Amino acid sequence: MVRTEDTSVFPRFLDLDYPNVERGEGVWLTTTDGKRILDACSGGAMVACLGHGVKELAAAAAEQAGRISYFYNHHFTSEPQERLAERLLALAPEMARVRFVSGGSEANETALQLARLYHVDRGDEDRWRVISFAQAYHGSTMGTLALTGRDTVREPYTPYLASHLHIPPSRPTTDPDGEAALEALDRALEQAGPGTVAAFLCEPVSAAALPGSSPSDGFWQGVAERRDDHGFLIVFDEVVTGIGRVGSWLAAHQLPIEPDIVAVGKGLGAGHVPLGGVLVREEIYDAIDRGSREFDLGHTWDGAPLPCAVGLAVLDQIEKGDLVTRVHDRGPSLLAELTGALSGSELVGEVRGRGFLLGFELVDPRDGSSFLPVELDAASLVDDVAFEHGLLLTSTHPQADGFAGDQVLLAPAYTSSDEELAQMVERTAGVIADVEHRVKDRLSGMPNEDRDA
Ligand code: PLP
Repeated sequence: MVRTEDTSVFPRFLDLDYPNVERGEGVWLTTTDGKRILDACSGGAMVACLGHGVKELAAAAAEQAGRISYFYNHHFTSEPQERLAERLLALAPEMARVRFVSGGSEANETALQLARLYHVDRGDEDRWRVISFAQAYHGSTMGTLALTGRDTVREPYTPYLASHLHIPPSRPTTDPDGEAALEALDRALEQAGPGTVAAFLCEPVSAAALPGSSPSDGFWQGVAERRDDHGFLIVFDEVVTGIGRVGSWLAAHQLPIEPDIVAVGKGLGAGHVPLGGVLVREEIYDAIDRGSREFDLGHTWDGAPLPCAVGLAVLDQIEKGDLVTRVHDRGPSLLAELTGALSGSELVGEVRGRGFLLGFELVDPRDGSSFLPVELDAASLVDDVAFEHGLLLTSTHPQADGFAGDQVLLAPAYTSSDEELAQMVERTAGVIADVEHRVKDRLSGMPNEDRDA
């Protein structure tokens, strides 16, 4: 364990002790003191979709680095960049062009800039505002931070953040036809003035904030109608869901709507290189082609040969193993296994999943439905207890903002064997049983009226 007082690193949390991981193989991580941790979350951030230490990806990186790793895409292009763009468009033929970046925040930031430029180049300069789901996270840059409605994430940076609009989450269980969310969207359009709205930006299937949840088909159809009526763009943040995570190359392919711009990230580099991309439809490219004829904003590593060569090898590995089909076919039984294993727990509310993106909500065992008290920080407790059980889970703590209860996320590598998936489920159930005891102990010493504090 590395403690804050013993390191030169500026850690994310100054009161945490960090296990020091030395190596990874498949879904197993090994720390410097020899502890083995079963990785149920693709490196913790839903990234290492092919597991750790993938020899073919390391070989692709070494081969490309031996030739050339880097040059600036302001001056040159390369075979890896050209081929990776072609391959992505073959997987998403509704899209026409790809701009590469190095991660999810950069992808969403670029998507925002392209949406704005599209409108400006068509002479629609008033359009800049974005409407998004309040609970979601889209990145840590000032542009993308403004897209979340969660004050606990935005503070203390709010003075830097543009005033976009947010609507509450829409879950099929509580908003079965999507009408409540559509009404909220109509109110937001009205409030902004529809002629000022550049885009509706959202995750097609929610990742960290409401794992595995997607609004009903009625919602998506309604959003598409409003795009036709009001002229805004639909931008999908597929930083987590893209590249196979939910059992199709893009989550958009499972929904009755076609986005105009799609941001991808995490799985594209599979945790072996930082890599992301923004895919745009022909109309977006055409507007800029006919308009300013340049989109010069970018980042130093955009489209560099090394990450693109590894991205190509990632697609090769996914195709070779027919892994999108595996995720699609195995996802429902994995969800059933997880649901079954957690069914006896009074701490677990809704269990959800699509493909290999699964999660469940924690509820107050005293009534089986309310959020847990904020000060319990049950999400951190789950992650800590998971380490004690030799398991990597990722939990989030969004209830302080009132949009959802604490959430626990599983996002196994697509290459996980049935035996490894079974162990992830079994260990998760063990972790939750342990957390449930500790939570009940703490709640018994806590007066009921503090519950919703
Ligand atoms: N979008 C979503 C849905 C995410 O979950 C994340 C990160 O977790 C991001 C965007 C930001 O990606 P990155 O951390 O690679 O910048």
